[in-house]
Amino acid sequence: MNKKLSSHKRIVIKLGSSLLVDNDSGLKNNWLQSLLEDIVGLKRAGCDILVVSSGAIALGRTVLKLPSGILKLEEYQAAAATGQIVLASTFSSGLEKYDIHSGQILLTYGDTEERRRYLNARATIETLLEFGAIPIINENDTVATSEIRYGDNDRLAARVATMMSADMLVLLSDIDGLYTAPPSQNPEAKLVSDVTRITPEIEAMAGDAGTELSRGGMITKISAARIASENGTAMIITSGKHLNPLKALDEGVPHTLFHAAETPRSARKKWIAGQLQTRGVIVIDEGAIGALKNGKSLLPAGVNSFDGNFLRGDMVSIIDNKGKVLGQGIIAFDSANAKKIIGKRSADIAEILGYAGRSEMIHRDDMILIEPNSTENSDA
Ligand code: GLU
Repeated sequence: MNKKLSSHKRIVIKLGSSLLVDNDSGLKNNWLQSLLEDIVGLKRAGCDILVVSSGAIALGRTVLKLPSGILKLEEYQAAAATGQIVLASTFSSGLEKYDIHSGQILLTYGDTEERRRYLNARATIETLLEFGAIPIINENDTVATSEIRYGDNDRLAARVATMMSADMLVLLSDIDGLYTAPPSQNPEAKLVSDVTRITPEIEAMAGDAGTELSRGGMITKISAARIASENGTAMIITSGKHLNPLKALDEGVPHTLFHAAETPRSARKKWIAGQLQTRGVIVIDEGAIGALKNGKSLLPAGVNSFDGNFLRGDMVSIIDNKGKVLGQGIIAFDSANAKKIIGKRSADIAEILGYAGRSEMIHRDDMILIEPNSTENSDA
């Protein structure tokens, strides 16, 4: 890697089950403590850190002394419930020693894939980071069933990384990267250290490197790399088998780096620009137009009127009072609530709505403006 890990602003670290949990003895405490040292180092260097930790099911199995082999769905879920509580409390007490708080986030598929829930999950995680805490994230395995689950934390971590506009995702695994062929089947296989584009050749190299304890093999890691890279997050696969695995990355241990196709911000803006269906039209005043052009969010006070029946999280067009389309964005209020607060100061919103909503009508990260000399359909 030509850049130090600490030079990234926001890093998601995903831990595979087999690193954290030993089939017989349970949680690998020494290893986890060494990882926490690295995480604290990065945090003190100014990085936002998010952890996606697998291991709930594997750990629960050892705690409950369940036999190896395939379990019933409800047994997996019970194992996850038992393991998760131990996992979360270990992270929490381990980080408290350094005066760092953590927060447990359990996500299901819809939390990252449905726009309304996505806004909620993102706002909670963002707030945790603002409080200086480290989110400890896993899939909510106790309720997720096959139709509504990721099933592997590689892709979950990639979705979290892109949802949170992280610039780096590190998958700590039991293999040190992508090989030209599965090394277990081909001794000639070579490590690929740098991937600038995920081509069909790269995909064909994946084979399957899953172990009994973890679900994600190389195939899910490549899918994760695709999600990450297309949305502006670089991704590293490396072995986390040794102590202080993040420090080791800076010291040059073998790994595969998947470059990001662009920055998280430009990828997000492109995604917003590409959404063709809008559910409403928001008419804004001159003051708001100026503020938006200066990179500010759209506040309720700057909205003159609107048209349409929309829900929080829907895409809406932003127009001036002559009907000229200025841009589009994701609205933070549904139309019923929007009606009550347009023209009002953000400070009065809590009283009007009876709860403290978001102060922005459309957050600046959730909006694109059409450049003056481009057409409405350009991908601005
Ligand atoms: N969510 C699962 C667990 O915590 C792990 C999924 C995976 O191995 O990727 O046990």
